Amino acid sequence: MKKIVPLAILLAVTQVACNDAKQEVVKKVPEINQQTVTNDVTYLASDELEGRATFTPGITKAAEFIAKRFKEAGLKPLDGLQSYEQSFSLYNVKADSVAVNLNGEAISSENVAVATSNEMLNWDDSTPVALTVIGKDDDFRAKVGELNQRGGSNLVVIDPAHEGMFKRYQAYFGGGLNKFEINTNNTLVMVVTPLTDIKSLAVNVTNTVKTQALSNVVGVLPGKSKEVVLFSAHYDHLGVDEQAEGDKIYNGADDDASGTTAIMNLAQYYRDQGDNQRTLIFSAFTAEEIGGYGSKYFSTHIDADNIVAMVNIEMIGKPSKFGAGKFWMTGYERSNLGPLMNESLKSINTEIYPDPYPEQRLFYRSDNATLARLGVPAHSFSSTQLDKDKHYHKASDDVASLDLESMTQVIKSIAIGSQALVDGKATPTRVDTSKVNKSGLIY
Ligand SMILES: [Zn+2]
Repeated sequence: MKKIVPLAILLAVTQVACNDAKQEVVKKVPEINQQTVTNDVTYLASDELEGRATFTPGITKAAEFIAKRFKEAGLKPLDGLQSYEQSFSLYNVKADSVAVNLNGEAISSENVAVATSNEMLNWDDSTPVALTVIGKDDDFRAKVGELNQRGGSNLVVIDPAHEGMFKRYQAYFGGGLNKFEINTNNTLVMVVTPLTDIKSLAVNVTNTVKTQALSNVVGVLPGKSKEVVLFSAHYDHLGVDEQAEGDKIYNGADDDASGTTAIMNLAQYYRDQGDNQRTLIFSAFTAEEIGGYGSKYFSTHIDADNIVAMVNIEMIGKPSKFGAGKFWMTGYERSNLGPLMNESLKSINTEIYPDPYPEQRLFYRSDNATLARLGVPAHSFSSTQLDKDKHYHKASDDVASLDLESMTQVIKSIAIGSQALVDGKATPTRVDTSKVNKSGLIY
């Protein structure tokens, strides 16, 4: 016996088919598609890209892929650029030879660390150098941090009690410093010594200076107004550790292939929606892991006053402590962007939580801080459980450790939460720049 299809169902089916056909003519229904999200993050975090370290062929492949996805999403290059790549260069300043002599005695290079942008240092008793003594009971990090903010030429003599902490700084400076400008005279010469009374000094340092090229990948969806909503993530990661046993490639699936995937899919979503009132800029920043240079360069080549909000997306690949598909933002109290986005999110019965790890100072640990220093309501959105994430900055941060359904849900929620910003109906308060710590001048 044949099955008889009731007339009502036949009519309904026809009706749906008609609607579908009509919508295809008008525009695509915007959606965040889990399969596309999966494909994007899988490629960005694949071994082929070798951990996307800045200045490596792997990150160039990542940039090409992001540019291809921006093109598919119909984005335009930033004003004045011919392509999506916003290219620039950085100097790497690395000590070649170091000789320090205090009170007539040569100091072993093991006890010296130098952070400088200068090609050469030739200090003697006539050089105006500020002396700082870090005694046994002083707060090493606080004192050095203060000098970093102040800049200038500094000699720091450090009680041997701080040797452990000193070694960490020495290792960091030993890799060389990356600088937009050289010979700025902002210098720190650190010496571990029991001496505190410095009567004479001689410091001779020669550095090797290399120039290295790097690029952000930036796409624009022009709106009706010049006001900008900036969606960003960093696409660089830590690269390859040749010394490691077993897995050597730091794939950075969560950090931050997940955020990069989010901005590519948000670009597609808002393009398919069409009609954005504000101009939308999607920026994949380079060199975040080595000091946030991509966002620093970007921030000095755009009028930050036009940016009404920065939604920076960092590590959204795994469920947050609030559950799968839930996420939080850094610096919640610094603007009213969070409450404004939560208004939009009521429609899907979800909300963005304040950063549950304020002691980790995450507001300062991503690219948003650079734009926040210019007053932009700039925050990072994340779901990481940083206090217990076993994969954070490990070779095991790969796609297998992600929850792609949760990640797709977070991207959907960011899309819905940002709608009033895109439509020009919500304008968050600016960040009070007097309450944002400046970035360091020396390292
Ligand atoms: Zn990151």
